[in-house]
Amino acid sequence: MTMQAARYYGGGDVRVETVPVPVPGPGEALVAVGACGVCGSDAAEFTHGPLFTQELVAGHPVSGARLPVVLGHEFAGTVVSVGPDVTDDWVGRVVCCGAGVSCGACRNCRAGRTNLCSVYYTLGLHADGGLAEFVVAPTATLADAGSLGLTVDAAALGQPMAIAVHSVARGRLERGRTAVVVGLGGIGMFIAYAATAAGADVVAIDVNPDRLPLARALGADVTLSVENGASLAETVHALGREADVVFEATGRPEVLRDCLDLLAPAGRLVAVGVQKGASDQSLRNVTVHEQEIVGTSAHVCGRDLRQALELIAARPAGWSDVAGSVLPLSQLVSGGLEPLSSGRATMTKVLFDPRIRETRLADYGVAHASGGIHG
Ligand SMILES: [Zn+2]
Ligand SMILES: [Zn+2]
Repeated sequence: MTMQAARYYGGGDVRVETVPVPVPGPGEALVAVGACGVCGSDAAEFTHGPLFTQELVAGHPVSGARLPVVLGHEFAGTVVSVGPDVTDDWVGRVVCCGAGVSCGACRNCRAGRTNLCSVYYTLGLHADGGLAEFVVAPTATLADAGSLGLTVDAAALGQPMAIAVHSVARGRLERGRTAVVVGLGGIGMFIAYAATAAGADVVAIDVNPDRLPLARALGADVTLSVENGASLAETVHALGREADVVFEATGRPEVLRDCLDLLAPAGRLVAVGVQKGASDQSLRNVTVHEQEIVGTSAHVCGRDLRQALELIAARPAGWSDVAGSVLPLSQLVSGGLEPLSSGRATMTKVLFDPRIRETRLADYGVAHASGGIHG
């Protein structure tokens, strides 16, 4: 049996090709993909890569994969078959994949920090992923989304939401505290939502004012557009707020510096965006004001993914304002990777459905704003 798959060969080179359907091995399930999102990591890989996929040039040391690799680490679908030692009650379930594969046995795995596994790798970057009609995934990376009443399109938002859930957990954000989210790309938006759900008062900031209405719709109490170079600290203090936890989601060293200046005494800075360069920030206030700086990497599948799916299910109006359309693989570059990489993307998230030829509306099992009922 063959299938259509979007395979990454190197910078600027993604091809939709006909390849064999993979076969699930021990501990694995074969998932018929219904929707797969793309994010800044995929866009960076496409534009500047190989980055994450560099190890696939010679063969990945753990997964063994070589380029080309099927992209897509934000996918959901239906289990159609399972490997030899997997119970067949998996078959037919609508699942969301966490994409990060961990060994379960190393020191960090045993401590519950599976995202820091010594042999961690990610489906869609270090092994074939979900931008294909079928994908093989370890059942340990799958969460049952159907039992929460989620559609496949809603479940495809699970992986990026899990990143947000993990970021909020790293910030030890408490009810009633003020969270400031700086940078409202996909992850920043999901953090604004997850932080609101955690009971925080959320201030959401971006240079682009067009992004603010969505942040408000996701629960942010205050949204601000701040020009490059303006002081975040002055802007937020003018609101009469103290920044208890600041999420830096741009990856820009000068923004990280601003975020530290903004942070309240005893506050925590969560560095979400991978820093794009060195920083010369003074850490004086880490000592004098007992501030903390924490990083966050991916998510702990066994803990964060289920919580992420519950958060997605908790928005009854659905997610059409976040991801309204689902595109065919033929538009992966023009409708997903290129707009994301050039900053021209108009939707926060674009989903792809490997089974379709024409763009369709996303289905969240609820009435759309247009009045049509889908599902
Ligand atoms: Zn991603
Ligand atoms: Zn491990």
